[in-house]
Amino acid sequence: MIYLTIVDINTYSTWLEIDLNALKQNVAEVIKMTGTDVMAVIKANGYGHGMRPIAQACVAGGATWCGVARIEEALALRRAGISTRILVLGFTPASKIPEAIEHNITVALFNAELAQTYLEYVRIHGGTLRAHVKVETGMGRLGMPVEVVAPFLRALKNSPIQVEGIFTHFARADEPNSDSTPNQIRIFNTLLNELDSQGLKPEIVHSANSAAILNFPASYYDLVRPGDLIMGMAPDSAQPLPPQYKPTLTWKARLISVRNFPAGQGISYGSTYVTRKEERIGVIPIGYGDGFRRVDNQQVLVGGKRVNIVGRVCMDQCMLQLDDVPDAKIGDEVVLIGKQGSEFISVDEVAQRWGTINYEVVCGLAERLPRIYGE
Ligand SMILES: *Cc1c(COP(=O)(O)O)cnc(C)c1O
Repeated sequence: MIYLTIVDINTYSTWLEIDLNALKQNVAEVIKMTGTDVMAVIKANGYGHGMRPIAQACVAGGATWCGVARIEEALALRRAGISTRILVLGFTPASKIPEAIEHNITVALFNAELAQTYLEYVRIHGGTLRAHVKVETGMGRLGMPVEVVAPFLRALKNSPIQVEGIFTHFARADEPNSDSTPNQIRIFNTLLNELDSQGLKPEIVHSANSAAILNFPASYYDLVRPGDLIMGMAPDSAQPLPPQYKPTLTWKARLISVRNFPAGQGISYGSTYVTRKEERIGVIPIGYGDGFRRVDNQQVLVGGKRVNIVGRVCMDQCMLQLDDVPDAKIGDEVVLIGKQGSEFISVDEVAQRWGTINYEVVCGLAERLPRIYGE
């Protein structure tokens, strides 16, 4: 792999490496698996990977749509030159509707009163607003109740809001043996049939997130909406990622200090770790200010070996116990997420230590971490 920037101790002391080739291939694998169009979901700074390069790689991999949570994210994609269709999956304030029209951004409709307010803005501004209706089938979040969808669509016919799509979202698609997703699909299909018989069915139907792509082919319809999967992560830590999907993220740092401390030396705030003998202690310039968590019992890779983080994680540093890697020296590479030699730390391993899911780990990667893109 060739990274666009040569990184050395003089460039960065910590950075993220993102494999755009893996990302492109993951998008292509989703297309192969589903046979549908792909909306690359790249909200929250592309799951922390960096919005613009991720969007470009997804498009190169075959994605024809980008999905985001907020209109500001959609506008940032347009400024970055992304010309695919873009759907704002979440709430769009009515005052932003003129910008949505100008930049050809599609909004989600999940509330009839809000849609009325949108209509007023569309009429004042002129033009046509493209929209997808979001339907509640079991997520208990934003969708419209199924029984109001037909009258709602009928009322919008011949209005300047053009409803070109309809979608729903699954609550438990990461549970292949639960009835929950098949039930949601059944409720959605009943609605789609009803709309079809009344000539009201929008052109583009979609429902599948990453977990549904892996577990429920009946959810594919015209378009699928993967996020986690295209970043090369498993939407459910209990189910391993199929081998054709590749991890995209590596988090590295360099040792900025290596020294021996005598027995009895407290390490970091609160001296929660005290050396028991003479010990070799390294420092990496990473802390909770980077989105690393201040929890105990963590490991990183140094010299191809797992080593323990000792003492409390600070805002900008943490300390490593290096007795097992006596050759470790200032400038050596440390891996927090990813491979080193034959060892590997997955995002899921880190998520498990933090009592959370891989999604939250990557979304928390701080802005100040340089992101280096390779292909
Ligand atoms: C975030 C999101 C997705 C993508 O979810 P993944 O589990 O990352 O694939 C799809 N659809 C909606 C509505 C979302 O909010």
